[in-house]
Amino acid sequence: SNSSPSRPIQALPDNLISQIAAGEVVERPSAVVKEVLENALDAGASNITIRLEEGGVKRIAISDNGRGIPQEQLPLAVARHATSKIASLTELENVATLGFRGEALASIASVSLLTLTTRTADAPHAWQIENGKVSPASGAPGTTVDVQDLYYNTPARRKFLKSEQTEFGHCAEVVRRIALARPDVSFSLTHNGKAVDHWNVSAIEKRSAQILGDAFSSARLPLDESAGPLRLHGFVGLPTASKARADAQFFYVNGRFVRDKLLTHAVRAAYQDVLHGDRYPSYVLALDLNPALVDVNVHPSKIEVRFRDSRAVHQFVFHAVSRALAQTSATSFGTVPA
Ligand code: ADP
Ligand code: MG
Repeated sequence: SNSSPSRPIQALPDNLISQIAAGEVVERPSAVVKEVLENALDAGASNITIRLEEGGVKRIAISDNGRGIPQEQLPLAVARHATSKIASLTELENVATLGFRGEALASIASVSLLTLTTRTADAPHAWQIENGKVSPASGAPGTTVDVQDLYYNTPARRKFLKSEQTEFGHCAEVVRRIALARPDVSFSLTHNGKAVDHWNVSAIEKRSAQILGDAFSSARLPLDESAGPLRLHGFVGLPTASKARADAQFFYVNGRFVRDKLLTHAVRAAYQDVLHGDRYPSYVLALDLNPALVDVNVHPSKIEVRFRDSRAVHQFVFHAVSRALAQTSATSFGTVPA
């Protein structure tokens, strides 16, 4: 029999709870990058640098020029279920920040060596917390989150990591997704000391050209439509900008990158008449709506969403993309590359 001997029920120690949660929240280095970048944006940063070593496994150091954390709140920042972003169910249902679960930093801290250095605008100097100890530090206003030796204490998880290049690729993809949604913020990314990407604050046209390439820039249609509480804006690629793989599809809901079956289907359906079935459209689309009309608390990574009225959202997205594609004359669609 594989049943274990009878044991009394016991509450799990806090650190073990965080390590279990870390399995969902930070399943690989790119998830750490995502959580820390989202915190920087929630803190109002306009400049973010991301330094990675060995695919993020050795080190993920992210600095922002956001509002920082007051010294007395530093221990809470890394405590489980502690957040400055929501305080009630009503606020959860109307949440406009990227974070709100209050578990990312605690989860990261439970599976790595985490140092948080932060300074608010009015503080005379920075403070840092490491291993629960708060001490004075130096640094400009803003926050640096330094994550070293990810999964050093959870060897089973470490075993599931792929090669350095693969893990780095996932991290870089997360940075691209976020940078594409925020052309008003500058980002720079280095890996093993080498500059990989650098994007200055710019218009969305330029940011999307930098991230999606010239082929997309020269074959995209702008789109901006509103209907009631829904607004869809961004760019849809012409069939000539389509790809053999679905790797140029960026959909955001209230600023959050999502991979949602309903939305993907709505866009795909709009392309039906102009795109061969084995090609994937390229697009950068942002759907904005009242936060109360969408539930982002479906999964810890928040990559899935649930709409209160999913039929209305599907129809709206389908018609908006269809109309954008119809703007061009039938001939400009040309032939679809095989
Ligand atoms: P959440 O983002 O869900 O609130 P986190 O564990 O990611 O939970 O962060 C906990 C808290 O720490 C945040 O609510 C915020 O107050 C603070 N914090 C984290 N990162 C930063 C940052 N880069 N700048 C300012 N405050 C931060
Ligand atoms: Mg967060």
